[in-house]
Amino acid sequence: MPHTTNMPDRLPPCTICPTLADQARAAQKFGWEEHNTHLPAAVGRLKVVNDYRPYSSRKLQLRRCPECGTYYLYRSDYEYLVNGSEDEEYLTRLTDEQAAEYLNSNEP
Ligand SMILES: [Zn+2]
Repeated sequence: MPHTTNMPDRLPPCTICPTLADQARAAQKFGWEEHNTHLPAAVGRLKVVNDYRPYSSRKLQLRRCPECGTYYLYRSDYEYLVNGSEDEEYLTRLTDEQAAEYLNSNEP
């Protein structure tokens, strides 16, 4: 009998992950506040496990849900434009396999 370890109903109920999409993107442009978008506030509750670029304005972080242990990749980008700089943020939910790859390497 094959044994399945990835049963979703074994996870404790989580109040964070259901509010987050598998992929999310937000952008803030200076001078265009009315068009700015933001990631859900729940992103701030994710714990930073690895900060790959702590001194860069372009962030790359492995984050983890403190309630159910799901891993996420958080990225931010910064673009200098003549008519106003633009900040972008991305959040991607990782599979167990993807998370393991990030955990096993210091420089993804
Ligand atoms: Zn969760």
